[in-house]
Amino acid sequence: FVPAESIQGEALFVAERELLHQWNNVLRLRVGQHIALLDGLGMGYIAELTSLNKREAQGRILQRYAANGEPSINVTLYLALTRGERFEIALQKCTELGATAFVPLLCERSQADVSATKRERWQRIIREAAEQAGRGRLPSLHEAQTVAQALPQARGHLLLAETGQTLSFKAALALEPRQELAIWSGPEGGWSDNELEAAHQAGLISVSLGSRILRAETAPIAALAAVMFQFDQ
Ligand code: SAM
Repeated sequence: FVPAESIQGEALFVAERELLHQWNNVLRLRVGQHIALLDGLGMGYIAELTSLNKREAQGRILQRYAANGEPSINVTLYLALTRGERFEIALQKCTELGATAFVPLLCERSQADVSATKRERWQRIIREAAEQAGRGRLPSLHEAQTVAQALPQARGHLLLAETGQTLSFKAALALEPRQELAIWSGPEGGWSDNELEAAHQAGLISVSLGSRILRAETAPIAALAAVMFQFDQ
């Protein structure tokens, strides 16, 4: 992926430090080579590199095409921030599976570090997973929100809640044909009673993925796989 503004007509110009490091030192690209690029907005390009050094790269666009690899349903995942690697695994796998957007969620039982360094790391994980999966668009990463901040826009969203008398996820997906969906997934310690009550009041629909309790990173991955199985074509 290159920033969309790197491509102006037939010209390619890249000055992002991280990209140049990847091209020079990891991929060891050379002048004259043809490279495949994505702009993260749905377009793909074949370009010839005409110069490359530590500060900038230039090239000539030879071909452009509509990048496929995007699902026919838009899914936003509200992911509770969790300890260690779990949140990052969910970001990576859900990007591969076709998530459109992520909202990191600060819950009562979240263990959270939302520093700028963490955010950059999450962006990198998403970009690398999207490249690996051949996505045409880069999923967006929203600012972290508390449950209270996110609830007012959440009517009709599906909340993964493993206990209680909840609707099955399968039944919830069958309710209506969909092009858009938002799914909330909780932290390792689960949702608090306050959060469940507030979510209910705000019009979220509690759903269950079955009778087994899944890890915090497994639940959104399983839910998204089921959505793509049913709706993506
Ligand atoms: N000890 C916690 C509890 O009992 O509330 C378990 C939380 S679980 C490890 C982490 C999150 O994954 C839950 O908050 C929920 O969002 C989701 N989850 C796990 N298993 C699920 C299931 N069978 N159905 C729906 N959501 C599930």
